[in-house]
Amino acid sequence: MVIEIKPADHLVAGCIGKPGQRIFYIQAAKEGEMITILCEKFQVQQLAQGIHKFVEQLHKKNPHLEISALPDSDLDLDFRQPIEPLFRVGEIGIGYDQESGLMVLIAQEVGKEGQKDKHEDESEAVTLRIWATSLQMLQMANYGEEQASRGRPTCGNCMQPIDPEGHFCPKSNGHK
Ligand SMILES: [Zn+2]
Repeated sequence: MVIEIKPADHLVAGCIGKPGQRIFYIQAAKEGEMITILCEKFQVQQLAQGIHKFVEQLHKKNPHLEISALPDSDLDLDFRQPIEPLFRVGEIGIGYDQESGLMVLIAQEVGKEGQKDKHEDESEAVTLRIWATSLQMLQMANYGEEQASRGRPTCGNCMQPIDPEGHFCPKSNGHK
């Protein structure tokens, strides 16, 4: 099954929750139709890096393409309620349609191993395609990256995140 949002008038990637218990989402909407999907922090980071690279390439090939910053008032990077994720993301990728000049974010539902239905249609993973301008994609990427980096500080010793409650460092061997 393929769900398409074309073009999105709302697109955001980020997280909700306390450090250590944050849940990452991508949310897109078009004329009242809204879809939220659940993803991992590293997927948001990968996506953001991918978008940055992609837009850079796009600009090399199309020097006339304009990406100007929107005034802050036009930024709508908050999640809209209700946040009811449609599925958990497995594969995520980006593409570009020359004709419409839109970028597309393609998110595929995580594989449903162990749930082999008799009805193949029902077990088919959902693919979501979100179409948006490269500016929207960049804004989503920037915000998502910022949110992802705002998590728990990393322990310089073991490179594991430090919880607000404290950190038991497996590499410290009793040293502090
Ligand atoms: Zn540590």
